[in-house]
Amino acid sequence: MKIVVVGSVALDSIKTPFGDQKEILGGSATHFSLAASFFTKVGLVAVVGKDFPEKHISFLKDRGVDLAGLQVVDGETFRWEGYYEYDLNTAHTLDTKLNVFESFDPSLPADYRQAPFLFLANVDPDIQIKVLEQARQDAFSVCDTMNFWIERKPDSLKELVKRVNFCLMNDSEAREFCGTFSLLDSARQILDMGPEAVIFKKGEHGALLFMDQSHFAAPAFPLEEIKDPTGAGDSFAGGFLGYLANAGDVTEEHIRRAVIYGSVMASFNVEGFGTDRVARLTADEIEERFQVFRQITNF
Ligand code: AMP
Repeated sequence: MKIVVVGSVALDSIKTPFGDQKEILGGSATHFSLAASFFTKVGLVAVVGKDFPEKHISFLKDRGVDLAGLQVVDGETFRWEGYYEYDLNTAHTLDTKLNVFESFDPSLPADYRQAPFLFLANVDPDIQIKVLEQARQDAFSVCDTMNFWIERKPDSLKELVKRVNFCLMNDSEAREFCGTFSLLDSARQILDMGPEAVIFKKGEHGALLFMDQSHFAAPAFPLEEIKDPTGAGDSFAGGFLGYLANAGDVTEEHIRRAVIYGSVMASFNVEGFGTDRVARLTADEIEERFQVFRQITNF
């Protein structure tokens, strides 16, 4: 097991200017695992209710995702409902039903505790911390979050950020978390808390990586058709950490390539609703898009 991810496994109801779908497979851990599964072996830690459709479990297993850490308990699965306007960078939440996540007590299977990479996807920061504490001490850990938790649990989130190697956030979330408009100032504040790097995801404007002594900017892939941006951030994280875990070596050169693989995976994710596009993706398509990225950023 190379990567362990904890996060939400959800039933999403999503409306965009290009369509409307109800109760489809979603969740931060789902989108992350699917993207990372193209690069390496992932074990998923989450909880769903007894109402969670069996077909989704089979689908994740078919992609090679290890589900020993997925608890199925009495109660209803986490549900998120949201919509996007033509500015697809901003998700508007209509409803969040935590359901079984409210009493989730994660317990990592023995082999998960040895995984060298850990992704703490968007979920309650107290759950993220519990998983971090069960993982191996020297695991390379990366966290993500969203405004829902920045507003409800800022202290837990700060505690988490102090303890991870890398931190991922949307640009608007970073501004809210740090109380500043400047992304440079946000990056400094987050780096001062402890992480070695911070990556800001800027939707259709790409991603920015800040480290102590350097930074790197990647554009988003120019797409003709976008259907649903839900999960783009988690797919970015899956491509990013999947590539790094497979490379095994966290050097700056690999980190920069990982940002590009993250952008590649995010670009596929938004071409379909929910997990539709990534479900049909091939390794050749990923490589082809990586090469196009190389051309459009070369000067
Ligand atoms: P993103 O990659 O940021 O677009 O994340 C999208 C996923 O986050 C959706 O599939 C939702 O199910 C999930 N999500 C939404 N709100 C929350 C929340 N408060 N906690 C955990 N996951 C959430």
